[in-house]
Amino acid sequence: MNNLYNHILIRYGELALKKSNRNQFIKAITSHIKSALHTFVNLQYESRGMRFYIMLNGEDVNEIIPILEKIPGIYSFSVVARCESNLDDIKDLALKIMSQEEYQNKTMKIETNRGDKNFPLTSLEVTKEIGRHLFRNLENLKADVHNPDITLDVDLRYEGTYIFTKTYYGVGGFPAGTLGKGLVMISGGIDSVVSGYLSLKKGIEIEAVHFASPPYTSNEALQKVVDLLEQLTIYSKNSRIVLHIVPFTKIQEAIYKYTREDYCITIMRRMMYRIATNIMHKINANVIINGESMGQVASQTLESMNVINEVTNALVIRPLAAFDKQDIIAISQKINTFDISIRPYDDCCTVYVPKHPQIKPKSDVAEKEENKFAYQEMIDEAVANTERVVLRYNSKYNVVKDDLDIL
Ligand code: ATP
Ligand code: MG
Repeated sequence: MNNLYNHILIRYGELALKKSNRNQFIKAITSHIKSALHTFVNLQYESRGMRFYIMLNGEDVNEIIPILEKIPGIYSFSVVARCESNLDDIKDLALKIMSQEEYQNKTMKIETNRGDKNFPLTSLEVTKEIGRHLFRNLENLKADVHNPDITLDVDLRYEGTYIFTKTYYGVGGFPAGTLGKGLVMISGGIDSVVSGYLSLKKGIEIEAVHFASPPYTSNEALQKVVDLLEQLTIYSKNSRIVLHIVPFTKIQEAIYKYTREDYCITIMRRMMYRIATNIMHKINANVIINGESMGQVASQTLESMNVINEVTNALVIRPLAAFDKQDIIAISQKINTFDISIRPYDDCCTVYVPKHPQIKPKSDVAEKEENKFAYQEMIDEAVANTERVVLRYNSKYNVVKDDLDIL
């Protein structure tokens, strides 16, 4: 893209509907944009009501577009050329744009949006004036108002006129963090990271918890979780996510040793929920989020989910509850997590899978089985020894203990 285009015009999404929260939302989204783009030092920003402008000052817009496409609360944006709001300047700029090589032999239409109601001409008159000027000067240009190759948008405002031909769409949703904070239970699988993404997109700030069982689970398995979460950092408030790594080995060994084989998974998941609840309170989050999807595996029958859920009073949201696997995979491909998720390392859930896991567990049996060992002490110990790691957008991160950026 050449330097005719010197601004980006950003339009907000759902937040437009929420009048009472509008200012708070705008503050959140603009602060997210600035933090995500902080390495582009020449950018300047201007907030005008429901619009936000970025002045490029020579920065490479092609590097900026993919970042803006990931910021929750942005509905759409355009890379625009700006001039003063007078007819001669507007006509000149439109001509410069349409004279570019890429627009030769294309069909076009002009759409004028007159935000400046004091402008002496109506939008239709402006459109006609620009059209006349273009067709007088450009031999190859053809008009097609129904199905044009190019729509030249002219956004005429009091503070200036913005002209553009292309609109990009963002992820929509609410600005980062405006809906509160959640703790995402993250495995290395396909689902949980997608549930984290959907929560971020809805304006939930997330921290993540991962249960690791070394030496049964490897460093590579942990690295996978880090790499997955790193893909989400750009959607996140301040472009960072805190990961809590819970040492789960002792609890898992006790489960295998003391409890009925067909209840192992149910009990393991009850322990995970207890620990997650504990961490949720510690970090002042309002909700636990996970990648459970009804019917997907033995622990995700409604009977299992009930018996697992009953160990916590916390609100648990399962964004993927009713999704089909193909639809989850499609999202994971879109957010570039699929290839990481399918790396073959074992998670603590897959290290040991009983031959016939209970698909209809009973609460009283689960309780009786887990009381065969002193699990509360082990839970307290696991929580006390949980490590916290901060993942930042673009931090190339390696899980070697010494490298951990412990809070
Ligand atoms: P995923 O693809 O996310 O691993 P799954 O279909 O394999 O999900 P389960 O293994 O039953 O399903 O796990 C259900 C949910 O429990 C996961 O989506 C995740 O939110 C959570 N979970 C499972 N294992 C772990 C783990 N080791 N650490 C943290 N959370 C986990
Ligand atoms: Mg899993």
